[in-house]
Amino acid sequence: MSMVVVGSVAYDGVETPHGKIDRMLGGACTYIALSASFFTQPKIVAVVGEDFAQEDTDLLLSRGIDLAGLERVPGKSFFWAGKYSPDMNDRETLVTELNVFADFDPKLPDSYKSAPYLLLGNIQPGLQKSVRAQMNQPIRLVGGDTMNYWIADFRAQLLETIAEWDFLLINDSEARMLSGETNLKKAAAKIMDMGPNTLVIKRGEYGAILWRREGHFMVPGYLLEDVFDPTGAGDCFAGGFMGYLAGQGVDLKSDSVDHNEIRKAVIYGSVMGSFCCERFGVDRFRTLTRSEIDGRFEEFKEFTSF
Ligand code: AMP
Repeated sequence: MSMVVVGSVAYDGVETPHGKIDRMLGGACTYIALSASFFTQPKIVAVVGEDFAQEDTDLLLSRGIDLAGLERVPGKSFFWAGKYSPDMNDRETLVTELNVFADFDPKLPDSYKSAPYLLLGNIQPGLQKSVRAQMNQPIRLVGGDTMNYWIADFRAQLLETIAEWDFLLINDSEARMLSGETNLKKAAAKIMDMGPNTLVIKRGEYGAILWRREGHFMVPGYLLEDVFDPTGAGDCFAGGFMGYLAGQGVDLKSDSVDHNEIRKAVIYGSVMGSFCCERFGVDRFRTLTRSEIDGRFEEFKEFTSF
């Protein structure tokens, strides 16, 4: 089943211990859609400027991504640059040029409105809410991502927004910040009281924890020999997780939901996040195949079974 994805489509400059690239395709929506495209048909809602290159459009089209909602307006595309610490667990943002993204007012094409799945990338919570409101009701599954900035400065709006979500994806420090609890178990319970019935807390290279009322499930991070560039790994996790659920038609609200499918979705999320780190930017997605993805999924089974 198809899935609408909203967020940034951008150009990034990235420096890691493995090298430096001044400008390459990036953006949270780009990573989410590329990752999800291995499981379902993503439909992008985003804005770019006149500088958005044909080869980048072609890459997205080659993965079957619907670009009817990719608006092109006068001006420059969003540009972000960051530099990673030697262990790549921290990064410093060097440049954020919002450019055409500053006036982003997402408008859903009619052809998107009855898609059953909606994934809201990390943008201002009011915009996330407005996209949700534009979808035909009822919607099978809506979820999204947020970050410390929105939690700190747009708290009331964020709470109103996630109250309507089935699924929230955040990292551990954001979960503590949102809930006001240092203990992750207590934090997860409080966040599920805010609306989402399913929560994934990412723990960087250490993996992720899936939380539902009936319990939790822990996934380790995949051990790569070389992490070239972690940019977009969280977004690829989100794309793999929701993309798999959309591909299988899973409804997280249903009483008869197959919990094994939700667990598999988290594993696919981790698999996609790990592939993303193997090359700079979106490069790994140029050659990645579904059989490589399924091979790594099987490896996860092997190194976690006992
Ligand atoms: P992640 O590594 O998952 O945080 O995602 C990195 C991507 O997010 C990069 O490709 C950036 O272009 C994009 N990005 C960085 N800052 C912002 C922002 N303020 N709003 C939207 N997207 C952003």
